[in-house]
Order: sequence, then C-alpha cells, then structure tokens
Amino acid sequence: METTKQPRLRVAIQKSGRLSESSQSLLRNCGLRFARSKDKLFWYGIDFPVDLLLVRDDDIPRMLLEGVCELGIVGENIAREAMLERNGGQGLTALRQLGFGGCRLSLAVPENLEIEDISELQGKRIATSYPGLTRALLKERGVQARIVELSGSVEIAPALGTADAIVDLVSTGTTLRANHLRELQVLFESQAALYAPEALAEEKIPLQKRLLARLDGVISAAESKYVMLHAPREAVEEITELLPGVEHPTLLPLENSSRIAIHAVCREGLFWEHLEALKAAGASAILVLPVEKMLA
Ligand code: ATP
Ligand code: ZN
Repeated sequence: METTKQPRLRVAIQKSGRLSESSQSLLRNCGLRFARSKDKLFWYGIDFPVDLLLVRDDDIPRMLLEGVCELGIVGENIAREAMLERNGGQGLTALRQLGFGGCRLSLAVPENLEIEDISELQGKRIATSYPGLTRALLKERGVQARIVELSGSVEIAPALGTADAIVDLVSTGTTLRANHLRELQVLFESQAALYAPEALAEEKIPLQKRLLARLDGVISAAESKYVMLHAPREAVEEITELLPGVEHPTLLPLENSSRIAIHAVCREGLFWEHLEALKAAGASAILVLPVEKMLA
C-alpha cells in the first residue's frame, strides 16, 4: 500500500493539441493509470506514484523551472525558446526525445522574392513567435536580422508588409504555400521531448529512474519487431546480417529437416525490402510480430 509520504512525481503534458494524444498514450503504455479530476486538469496516478497536470504547452517550461512539476512533455521548440528567454539557454534537461510532434522551424520568404541564401537577409525584418530561437539560430549562421515578434498568424506578416521574411513551424508546408511563401532554409528540427529541471530532489530520483526505464522499454519496443523464419543451416550467417539491428539470434532445430528456425528481435525498422532479401537468401515461413514491452 502506498502512503502519502511516498514521493510522487508530477508530469505536465499538453491538455489539448497536437501533443496530447501521443503524450497520454505514451504514459499509458508505461503502465500508468489515472483517476481524472472533475476539472480534468489534474489526474491522480492510481497504481504508480506519478500524477498528470494537463496544461497549455507554453506553460510547461515555466512549471518545470518553478518546481510545479518534475517532468514535462513538450516540443523542443517551446522548451528551447523558454530557456533562451529566461536563462540564456539553461535550466532544463531534455531526458528523452519521444519521436512524435515532429516539425521544423524554417525560414520562409515570399515566393516572388529573389533570394537564394539566408545571408541576403542581413538587416531585414523577420516575423516569428520564436524570437529567442530565431535570433540564436540566425546568429549561428552569421545573420543579424531585426526580429518582429508576433504571437500568431506569422505567415501573413510579409503580405501585410510588417516583415520581409518569417521563421515559423512547418510540418507539411501547406500553410506556407497557401500564403505564397517559399521555405528557404530549415533552421531547427523539433520533436516532443521529456524535460526535467536540472536539479531534482534527491528522494524523487529513484522514482524518476523507474519511470525512465519503463519509458525506454516502451520506446524501444515500438521500434522493435520479433522475427521468426526458417532457413537453410548454411545461410544462417548471411540471414543474420540481413536482419536489421540483430546481433545474437536464437537458432532452433526443426524436426526432420535440414532447415533451422531463426528467432530474433530486430531493433531497427524492418521493411518489405528486408523480407524480400531474406527470402532471396533462402528464408521461408517469415513471421514478423510486434513487440509490446521490453526491459533490458
Ligand atoms: P496550446 O493550446 O497548448 O498552447 P498550441 O496551439 O500552442 O497549443 P499545437 O498547435 O497543439 O500548440 O502544437 C504543439 C506542438 O506541436 C508545437 O509546439 C510543436 O512542437 C508541435 N508541432 C508539430 N507539428 C506542428 C505544426 N505543423 N505546426 C505547429 N506545431 C507543430
Ligand atoms: Zn501553445
């Protein structure tokens, strides 16, 4: 039984938006279950001492820095921007990249602007909601521009005449095209990550480690596949080499057969091309199964 004295962790995730579903299912896959409060902003962890705070993504870095929660799932774009604003880039540690919420922070210019290189934007006005990141990323590339900070609708700034170019998040590029903008250069690739404050109270460290181990299990399971196949004995070496991310497969004899069964966990993407190559090397009865959990 749990007592109230046992340390608990609070994890802040986005309440509703692009990251909410994936954040929730990631934690659920770690075996966490929650009792939802009426206002739905605080979910109490039922059989694991981890509670959830459901908030706007922009609030997560501040909550971590102020000690309101010990972990937060937020886009690297938001976390990096907040750190630059507050502490010159310090204060939060990215513990794990989570593989969802992928997007890029790109510099885009009006379609009809004849410009090939961002160096041509020296001294120009650039509209963005990410002033800190934009300044830092342009500086890295030797460009000093005038930043026009906007909280939204950045993509219409050039048409309105308030900026010469923009720096904004892009995933498909549809919004850019709809606004007659051309993506000139990707400045930063972002995805959701698990963040923590740089310092964590001593008594909470074991719990954080336990949660991270489960998280690692979920992440590597999602990337892994369990493969079973039959192969001629003499092809074992070649077939093992064809299985991506496999070092030590299990070899099992087959009754009344010169062939052998090979079982292995592939830790990298397994595509049709791989299966075709396996077949060409003599493999048959190839089965690929999802891996649900893994604990190294
Ligand atoms: P909130 O109400 O929580 O403030 P929001 O409108 O700021 O939500 P979303 O649009 O849900 O945020 O985006 C959350 C995060 O998703 C972004 O900060 C970014 O990391 C990621 N993301 C992925 N693709 C895109 C995209 N095409 N445009 C914007 N953000 C994206
Ligand atoms: Zn937001």
